Amino acid sequence: KLSKRLKQIADYVSKGSRVADIGSDHALLPVYLLQSGTCPSAIAGELNTGPFQAAKRQTAEAGLTKAIEVRQGDGLAVLAPGEADTVTIAGMGGALMADILETGRQAGKLDGVKELVLQPNVGEEIVRKWLSRHGYVLQNETILEEDGRIYEVLHARHGAHSMDGNSIENVYDAAFLAANLSDEAKREWLYRMGPYLLRSNEELLHNKWQHEHGKLARISKQMEQSDLAESREKQAQLKQEMDTIQEVL
Ligand code: SAM
Repeated sequence: KLSKRLKQIADYVSKGSRVADIGSDHALLPVYLLQSGTCPSAIAGELNTGPFQAAKRQTAEAGLTKAIEVRQGDGLAVLAPGEADTVTIAGMGGALMADILETGRQAGKLDGVKELVLQPNVGEEIVRKWLSRHGYVLQNETILEEDGRIYEVLHARHGAHSMDGNSIENVYDAAFLAANLSDEAKREWLYRMGPYLLRSNEELLHNKWQHEHGKLARISKQMEQSDLAESREKQAQLKQEMDTIQEVL
């Protein structure tokens, strides 16, 4: 059975699209997308030999070696331009994900890619910033909990308007945040917390950032013992970050 996390990623993939799943590991996502009739064909990309072989094994066991091509290589290098309509990348950090997207974009590998479904494990704001800088408009976001971990899934379309007709600027329009912060600071926190997640006032989002707040408070407490000027400065920064989290939530 597919995990809740992978199921949410699959739910964002548009029916009929040719998908490329990068960093596919066991290829569970492309196998599900084929079996559910969502995608007519798929490419599973993997950098590392162990997972690459696991992906080959999984697609063979599912009888899908014709429909799913498993390719070994770094990021989007496994794709020829125009081969995929949708790219999915899941289960890695946001910085690596943005790096894969940017290297691929510069090599023309994203030409013709209309849709991205991304699940960064950390560093979500790096991914949101990359998307908005390169003309991908967030359509929606989901936050979910599985096995005690919280995951965020982002769905973006190229050159499009958002589902509710918003342009990129409007998706990150800070005006709706009541927090007592500058517009610039508000926008920064929209990138960090997620504009759709904030608008829908998700309980899990509150849990995630309360947890973050707790971590900062612990660090701050440890620093109280030190009276170095440097650490006082750092403490002031932490205090401000904690205040902002409370302010925005
Ligand atoms: N996408 C699957 C999921 O969400 O369940 C697997 C996630 S797994 C934690 C991350 C996978 O990405 C690993 O199998 C790793 O080998 C692969 N990976 C890491 N860097 C990569 C890169 N630059 N290009 C392709 N795959 C990469």
